[in-house]
Amino acid sequence: MDYHISASNLKDFWSCNKRYQYRITSARASKPTIYMTYGKIVHEGIEIFETEGKSMEQITEWSLEEWNSDNAARDSFLGKIPKPPRSFKNMYRSYEEKIYPNLTHKGAIIEKLFKIPFDESRNIYVVGKMDRIEDLGVFDWKSGAKPPSAHDLQDVQFYLYRWAHNKLYGQHPEGIHYGHLASGKLYNIEVKPTLVDDLEVLLDKTAEVMYNGWQDEEARPGTGFPRIKGYQCNRCPFQGICDRELYESDSRRIR
Ligand code: SF4
Repeated sequence: MDYHISASNLKDFWSCNKRYQYRITSARASKPTIYMTYGKIVHEGIEIFETEGKSMEQITEWSLEEWNSDNAARDSFLGKIPKPPRSFKNMYRSYEEKIYPNLTHKGAIIEKLFKIPFDESRNIYVVGKMDRIEDLGVFDWKSGAKPPSAHDLQDVQFYLYRWAHNKLYGQHPEGIHYGHLASGKLYNIEVKPTLVDDLEVLLDKTAEVMYNGWQDEEARPGTGFPRIKGYQCNRCPFQGICDRELYESDSRRIR
């Protein structure tokens, strides 16, 4: 088995071990929110614009079809497809008119997937996907309505991309940029040396604890990744499977 560490499963793991395990073993049980579905479609729409040269009108139309088919396919679908939380058209227009002209397009790589060996003796890899790389650096697109907070601009995701860029190309990126699609603004990530050190420690510790979790899970199922119930459950896409398994496990004990 390969063990993957990504920005999302790093955060999952440290907020709730079980949530991390579900993401690895039961991804299909995930119930994305409408915001997650919307963000996924917008990212794909921008990729199509960049790689297939389609017009924004065509991509908007495609996005609405994707939205309808994604929502219709959900088992929570109750006969009414919700409206997208934001306009696809405005989001794409903002990208095309405000962000696109500020890119150099030199050496642009769209949706760069990476899988970097971290500890080959234990099959541990750091994985992820950068929305765009070019000579100006790494770009990440965000489809939220609100502009980023100071904390958003220090997300571990950006430090992981910087680390990954160095491993892939032997140098740090020229810059790391948070692209706020709704406003068409680009925010530069100010890299803090202490957080660079923290990431190195975090990767070492996570690799160790995750790996041990999988070993414990194999030796005694149910012991590798304990639940951490709390406020984080409110936004957890695995609430359904988690609550069901918890109920079934308790029912077996009571009998
Ligand atoms: S619902 Fe809560 S306890 Fe269950 S996996 Fe999600 S975060 Fe963890």
